[in-house]
Amino acid sequence: MNEIIVKLPDGSERILKEGASIYDLAASIGTGLAKAAIAGKIDGHLVDLNAKLKNGATAEIVTEKSPEALEIIRHSTSHLMAQAVKALFPQAKVTIGPAIETGFYYDFDLDRAFTPEDLEKIEAKMRELAKANLKIERQELSSTDAIALFKKMGEDYKVELIEDLGADSVSLYTQGDFTDLCRGPHLPSTSYCKAFKLTSIAGAYWRGDEKRAMLQRVYGTAFGDKKELDAYLARIEEAKKRDHRKLGRELDLFSFSDEVGAGLVIWHPKGGMLRTVLEDFERKEHIKRGYDIVLGPQILKTELWQRSGHYENYRENMYFTTVDEQGYGVKPMNCLSHMMIYKSQLRSYRDLPLRFFELGMVHRHERAGVLHGLLRVRGFTQDDAHILCTPDQLDAEIKGVLSFVKDVMGIFGFDYEMELSTRPEKSIGSDEAWEMATSALLSALKDSGRDFEINEGDGAFYGPKIDIKLRDALDRRWQCATIQCDFTLPERFDLTYVDADGERKRPVMVHRVILGAIERFIGVLIEHFAGNFPTWLSPVQAIVLTVTDNQIPYAQAAFDTLRAAGIRVQKDFRNEKLGFKIREAQLQKVPYMLVVGDKEVESGLLAPRYRDGKNLEGMTPEQFVSFIESEVKAFR
Ligand SMILES: [Zn+2]
Ligand SMILES: [Zn+2]
Repeated sequence: MNEIIVKLPDGSERILKEGASIYDLAASIGTGLAKAAIAGKIDGHLVDLNAKLKNGATAEIVTEKSPEALEIIRHSTSHLMAQAVKALFPQAKVTIGPAIETGFYYDFDLDRAFTPEDLEKIEAKMRELAKANLKIERQELSSTDAIALFKKMGEDYKVELIEDLGADSVSLYTQGDFTDLCRGPHLPSTSYCKAFKLTSIAGAYWRGDEKRAMLQRVYGTAFGDKKELDAYLARIEEAKKRDHRKLGRELDLFSFSDEVGAGLVIWHPKGGMLRTVLEDFERKEHIKRGYDIVLGPQILKTELWQRSGHYENYRENMYFTTVDEQGYGVKPMNCLSHMMIYKSQLRSYRDLPLRFFELGMVHRHERAGVLHGLLRVRGFTQDDAHILCTPDQLDAEIKGVLSFVKDVMGIFGFDYEMELSTRPEKSIGSDEAWEMATSALLSALKDSGRDFEINEGDGAFYGPKIDIKLRDALDRRWQCATIQCDFTLPERFDLTYVDADGERKRPVMVHRVILGAIERFIGVLIEHFAGNFPTWLSPVQAIVLTVTDNQIPYAQAAFDTLRAAGIRVQKDFRNEKLGFKIREAQLQKVPYMLVVGDKEVESGLLAPRYRDGKNLEGMTPEQFVSFIESEVKAFR
């Protein structure tokens, strides 16, 4: 029998029998590796474990520990779920079932809605099929034969998929009596699906098209082992407890109302205070860094949006109104007024850079299906600024913004990741301008000394951008800051400055936000802190509690002192048991409870108790004021 030589990633070579598979390669290295192997790579392409090797190929073994493993495990588990669904509901039609960041899903067309009980049954069936250790086998078929096969099976969606692919042949995977169209690779057999859980059901349109069939999407997750699955499920449980919509209600921060409109936040007193604290913080931090605070109107003439290019490129996301036969667009961005301020006088190079900052409320039409609490809304407030500078100043300005982001994320205790997005297909502006902007962002990123990623083609239509994603307490990523270079708007609005040589030149424009949308950021903060805001952010920092009515005059005087000193304080002088009042304040997650009993009245002190139950030493109201002030100053 002939032999073949394959190369391993470390450069070494192995001699195998002709017709050997990735599995044979693993087995030739060791039985442990053969056992751990779930798939392979041939010349960089992921393949099944039983894929045949060719002479001279570079081969790699994918084990449960490999970075590629999770996706293969999850995708195979989605097939397992589809097989279980077909076994239990033969009338169900299968569509697509990819692996996603949190696990996998599969969309089904079924004449009735899945219930939570169905999920349990499906999961039990999956376990049964996994135990049966069915081989998962790949087969290549001509598209014509595959279409005939899926037509016979009544799987219309698969037929459509193959027709749209337009390939000569397709690959199918079969496990037991279930066959699915799939590129693969897959696990060698169903018993490799060891740790999975179905998590939820949702509606989804076929191919995301609202005009097409409404399907049922079953979500699940899968891991290489039970321990990882359990840790993940515990994290999900914790996330549910921290859900900002739930906490927003319980802490009475905000609400939404059908009568008002979807995606439009109504801030209640405590939420309004939380916002105010955050906004005050922002103003201060911006002033410190040389920004000017400006304010533009909420609606601007339609002609202006035509000039900016928003009308052409962004109209479907905007709200318009007509008054006295004049059309207006509700601003989806704050840029235009800032440019008007720039244009309000002749600018010299000596005036630059100009940094205009606005806590600007914008409205963007988001599809109803994507709205999600504070995280995805239709009206929101950006901590928006536009920097106008000379091309020479661009580098330093972008570095300044990155250091601003670093400082602010440090204050909130967030780690973060950065990405550079480059020119998309639908864009305006010259090649030269794009080149210049992209290289400025790149150089600032490199200079930051932090890792970053590049997303080719993901930039805004008017310039390249840096996206910054923070990581919260549950290790989830959230978009916060963006820095966008823009050589186009200054052109369209004919912004100029007089340079040292007396010539009129174009300034560069940078759009940037630090926290992003205040609404969304608050949603993230609520979940990150589980509602236990640090003292400096807490809408209510302390609450004065009386033991009996006897202490009311003293407690009222203490309350007045704290409030006059600027402490965000509440009182609870109700004729209720102290334990009851403490529990209530704890549920409201107020950092400090100030208990006033006879002893405190006699000694002229307050007895502060932290929300976790820890008691602090007695303090006079004045001492408590300084104590809170020091916490606020240190952003604690
Ligand atoms: Zn598949
Ligand atoms: Zn802007």
